[in-house]
Amino acid sequence: MRSNQGVGIKESTIEKVRSLPISEVLLGEEVELKRIGREYVTLCPWHADSNPSLTINDEKNICFCFACGGGNDAIAFIQQKFSLGFSDAIQRIADRHGIVVEHDNLDPEEALRLAVERRRLVGSVAASHASYRAAIRSDIGLGARQWLLARGIGPEASREFELGWAASGYFAGRVTVPIHDHRGTIVGFTGRRIIDDDTPQKYKNSSSNQLFDKGSLMFNEHRAVEPSRVAGSVIFVEGHLDVISMWQHGIRNVVATQGTAGPPIEGIRRLMRRCRRFVLCYDGDDGGNTAVEAFIKVAGPLACQGELTITVAQLPQGTDPDSCIREGIDLYSIIENAPQWLDWQIDCWLRSVDRSDTHHFSKVEAAIRQLVESIRSPALRQFYIDKAAKVLAEDAKSAAKLAVNWNKSLPRINQIQRWSRPVPAWVRHQVERRVLRSYIHCPAMRDRLRPLMQHLDGPSHIWLWNRLVELEEHMGLLQPDVIMAVLAVCEPHYTRTLRSIVVPTIKVIEEDGIMDHAEKVLLSSIKTND
Ligand SMILES: [Zn+2]
Repeated sequence: MRSNQGVGIKESTIEKVRSLPISEVLLGEEVELKRIGREYVTLCPWHADSNPSLTINDEKNICFCFACGGGNDAIAFIQQKFSLGFSDAIQRIADRHGIVVEHDNLDPEEALRLAVERRRLVGSVAASHASYRAAIRSDIGLGARQWLLARGIGPEASREFELGWAASGYFAGRVTVPIHDHRGTIVGFTGRRIIDDDTPQKYKNSSSNQLFDKGSLMFNEHRAVEPSRVAGSVIFVEGHLDVISMWQHGIRNVVATQGTAGPPIEGIRRLMRRCRRFVLCYDGDDGGNTAVEAFIKVAGPLACQGELTITVAQLPQGTDPDSCIREGIDLYSIIENAPQWLDWQIDCWLRSVDRSDTHHFSKVEAAIRQLVESIRSPALRQFYIDKAAKVLAEDAKSAAKLAVNWNKSLPRINQIQRWSRPVPAWVRHQVERRVLRSYIHCPAMRDRLRPLMQHLDGPSHIWLWNRLVELEEHMGLLQPDVIMAVLAVCEPHYTRTLRSIVVPTIKVIEEDGIMDHAEKVLLSSIKTND
């Protein structure tokens, strides 16, 4: 199920969130506040603050930083601290303060029903969570605490991950691991049975509902966002215990894709806004290989376009990250030296190649060709052609011949001209408007236009692009009326300048010619004295 929360939030909801005292919002996040007279101070999320320099003023309901000039309202604080978009920040605050988030939707009744249902579910999950937490701390939780210690999970990690114990009910006899959505709201649990008997299901998840949609969740995403930005990479593992175990060993940029299914593409795009290096660290068994392939299916095309680097950390047969750490295997260097997924994938195929089996041989050759064809960088493409040719051919001479033939038959890469003459600012402005307009109105061009968007320069254009990314994350599709609803809540100046992009008075036609021109202009610098 795809949630469309956060899109076109009603002004009245935003007002309700805005009217909460800023100190209350921050206390709801367990942010430490120090009172100074009628104000508070806390650490500033807008700069690397070690000495509280952000002042919180409840009367004006704002915060501001004397050190870096950052600050704004409570919503901006939550956005900045937890790397959330505007609508996600609204939803996070609303979840914590029992506010129903209403949407300007085509069907207001249905939207309201969903919002009320969400509030009910959030409340019910929070109540269960509180009772599981109380149980693990009490006498009845002794067995669970001992089990965790035996697994090497100490009290600090247990507190951080808010582990609990269910003595009875749906998760009876299980340690509960709360699952947060990317905004940091607890949406469900995974229960791990602590007695290893013959009963099936070592793990049990909350049943699916509007709030808990396992396929769209990545465990630990909300905690891993900031460490991933700092580290410049994010590590994907299979299990919750792997994440907890790595956390205890100081590796914090980790998320679990929960089992061997592929990751949610919205989640991939969210993480790509923080870092572009993904490390797959799945179990060293067939399930782990299946998980790598499922991941590549989702994120591989982005890697081929050069938007993402994916490496595969191959663990020793029969181990997982948790057992590696407990057995003293050097997980750090396996992660550090992980090969590029292309190498991993091609090596996998080449290992299986059998020259005497011509049918199998040509299947492998075709698979590699297809992969190589999708690589956008000419140098990288050449590297893999040479590599594959060396293994596929019987000797150096025929390898060179094979490589030449491949090169001839592959479609030419549209080379991006990186050094071109500076263009006048107004030309660039027009081109930026044009690519955004085409992006909205010509869905078929989106994949090709997307990489260009990181070169946008106009503040209102960047603003619009960020909203489009958010909308795609939540809705999966862009509709001009929904985009207009979002524009309506931005600064009047932006609304005016962006309106004609979203609702153009001219007909927008799909034309390939725009690509070459747009690439040339957007990748060149701006001529300032114009
Ligand atoms: Zn600051």
